Amino acid sequence: MSKIRVGVVGCGAIGREHARRIANLIPETELVGVADFFQEAAEKTAAQFGVKAYASAEELIHSDDIDAFFITSSDPSHAGYVLEGLKAKKFIFCEKPLAQTSSDAEAIIKAELELGKKYVQVGFMRRYDRGYSEMKRIIESGEIGDPLMIHSAHRNVSQAPGFLSNSAITQVAIHELDISRWLLDDEYEEAQVLEVRQSKSTKGDWKNPLIVTMKTKSGQRIDVEVQCSEAFAYDIQCQVVCEDGLVNLPDPMQVTVRKDAKIKKGLMTDWAQRFIEAYDIELAAWAKSIAENGEPNGPNSWDGYVACCTADALIKSRETGVPEKVLTIDKPELYK
Ligand code: NAP
Repeated sequence: MSKIRVGVVGCGAIGREHARRIANLIPETELVGVADFFQEAAEKTAAQFGVKAYASAEELIHSDDIDAFFITSSDPSHAGYVLEGLKAKKFIFCEKPLAQTSSDAEAIIKAELELGKKYVQVGFMRRYDRGYSEMKRIIESGEIGDPLMIHSAHRNVSQAPGFLSNSAITQVAIHELDISRWLLDDEYEEAQVLEVRQSKSTKGDWKNPLIVTMKTKSGQRIDVEVQCSEAFAYDIQCQVVCEDGLVNLPDPMQVTVRKDAKIKKGLMTDWAQRFIEAYDIELAAWAKSIAENGEPNGPNSWDGYVACCTADALIKSRETGVPEKVLTIDKPELYK
């Protein structure tokens, strides 16, 4: 069978990482070309992989040489490129978030529904992490009873320039918005941001830390500590408390060193290292599902849309100071 010919739009940190996977790790894919807002970045990445540098994202998306493309450009560009890709009937792997607002995400749902088939997968890679997968398996087995609540933490060491106050929700907490509803297999009723005493490292109008909370339709509560920057490590924690027990997300494997009458064990400092295996599994599963079933089977436009609706409610609650309803359209048949 011929390979899936893939392009990458956005040659930054994760764009180059995914390009490497497409070119070297995934048997079903072939990296054909790249594009970036700045041509120099595209040329450099193209030269690294021996592929074409397209003059623009649009040229790449509409090229007859491309079957599928990755959106790894900055957040505000995602929704526009997804819509462009749907016009061209290309498979689209869009890094999170799917869009900046729920109305932009809804436009994507409508465009995909018109095509009557799933073309879009959203980069919620935690669903492929072995720790989260095992937690879900145990919860679904029923051996520790029904889930009641989740306590999570998302701690970052730094953020790139351009990080805005609401990026704490749309860019950072968005992973928690998706993984919590996936673990609980329930939808959100309401969401709220809680103010916390601010850390000395708080910058500009960022709130650091903050607490994000959600309540599901069946009454489960989720609380997430979000530290956008200056935390002691890139540290992701998740504990699901059930009726008869609980499950904890395991820390990633780190070798211990015994020296000077102490045991030392490092923590990680960035996402690329922490979730490296999850990204590998995610991309392999994406390619396999397209090759075997003719459509992606991972987190889809609906999942991206629900995350955006939840983010909208959280952003609104920052203004009102009270829990806000998470409002969505009815789930279309395509995503059931
Ligand atoms: P990055 O290093 O800043 O890379 C973004 C790249 O896209 C840069 O080369 C940027 O060019 C380029 N770009 C910006 N606007 C563009 C446009 N309109 N069209 C084409 N290219 C454009 O950022 P990153 O860390 O790789 O993140 C990229 C995306 O992936 C973000 O949406 C982020 O949320 C997501 N991400 C997801 C995960 C995950 O865990 N799933 C992890 C990391 C990142 P300039 O630098 O010249 O502006």
